[in-house]
Amino acid sequence: MIQLIRGFKDILPGEVELWQEIERIARNLLEDFGYKEIRIPIMEKTELFARSIGEDTDIVEKEMYTFPDRKGDLITLRPEATASIVRSYIQHKMYAADPARKLYVIGPMFRRERPQKGRYRQFYQIDAEIFGVASAHADAELIYLLTVLSERLGVTDVAAHINSLGCPECRPDFKAALLGFMEDRLETLCADCKRRSGRNPLRALDCKVDTCRAAMTDAPSILDHLCPDCRDHFDTVQRALTELGVDFVVDSRLVRGLDYYSRTTFEVLTGSLGAQSAVAGGGRYDALVEMLGGPSIPATGFAIGFDRLAEIAGLKPEEFRKTPDVYIAALGPECQARAFQWSCALGVQGITADMDMEDRSLKSQMKRADRMGADYVLIFGENELKDGVAVLRNMDTREQKSIPLDKVVQEIKTAVQSTQSC
Ligand code: AMP
Repeated sequence: MIQLIRGFKDILPGEVELWQEIERIARNLLEDFGYKEIRIPIMEKTELFARSIGEDTDIVEKEMYTFPDRKGDLITLRPEATASIVRSYIQHKMYAADPARKLYVIGPMFRRERPQKGRYRQFYQIDAEIFGVASAHADAELIYLLTVLSERLGVTDVAAHINSLGCPECRPDFKAALLGFMEDRLETLCADCKRRSGRNPLRALDCKVDTCRAAMTDAPSILDHLCPDCRDHFDTVQRALTELGVDFVVDSRLVRGLDYYSRTTFEVLTGSLGAQSAVAGGGRYDALVEMLGGPSIPATGFAIGFDRLAEIAGLKPEEFRKTPDVYIAALGPECQARAFQWSCALGVQGITADMDMEDRSLKSQMKRADRMGADYVLIFGENELKDGVAVLRNMDTREQKSIPLDKVVQEIKTAVQSTQSC
């Protein structure tokens, strides 16, 4: 039997209802804040990700699903959404009338990481981006949205961590200080940190390898090196969050994996997931639009890990699982033919009806209706046909009533609607 690919998964009925509910809540929230959905391709030219995410990152170095198409052009399954959204924003000149745009994407991303609990090779993200707004309030809005969404999904045990990575004015000074600090400790750092130290020493700050963590304990803090503008920007983010009543932790080691961030970065961490503790992350990337060939337009955004959110959401899937409103237990070909007409008529009127098409015994049909959690069962066999009625049974109260055949659809509709309204 052919099994699915390692690190990939199916989201089956029973679980998918929870995903749909999370998606519905997230969409409503984002649209209430003025974000518009954009659908972008699953594949892009490899160059787009290599240039934007950065050649020295884990994603580009080791994790992308890259392959030549039939003409030999290198294409990649998107490992994240921001690069594609920026490409689309530039390609369609979305900035022309007004650069300020809020966009969101919900969909699968692909990274060839080592599969483990909470880490998949195809995973899903909810991604939101704000273009054309340099103000710190845009960053505060994104962090606020993450906390509101967590709350609405019943996710507890989350904390927003925030940091500033400075800008091209102040980061070189910090990089130099950090490199000076790392030079004496280079031998204790992992191979990745050692190799990247020349071009991107910041990565060593949030390396998860124990020896790197130990070596970097007393590393200088970026927050001591911010220029007045970056300081002011970061203070405004914090002030706005405090006024919104959002709890946050300032974490000067939060540098995030991607190269394109500047100024504000943030992550939402949870204690409920073990080692894979980040549910969402994001930050400001003021240089990226220009770097990818557009005008100089600031931007900021976040990505939420949908899979992880589904794991820790406090919602109960059984509350959204759709069960049949009515199960039609019809016996014999004539009754089945009639039942089929009723079930279709109910379906198009928004009443979920299910029926047995294999002509099983009444006993096994009743069992099936019970297993499926139907609210009502309509019993329709030879005797009922003779009497010109069908019997509608309320599975909860066990009350039964006979319905004339020409009123079946209407009566079921009324019964179901009255059950739903109480
Ligand atoms: P990143 O784009 O790496 O900042 O990821 C943003 C969020 O996506 C993370 O906080 C995770 O919740 C989620 N995520 C990233 N990689 C994976 C993965 N391989 N499997 C599941 N979720 C992931």
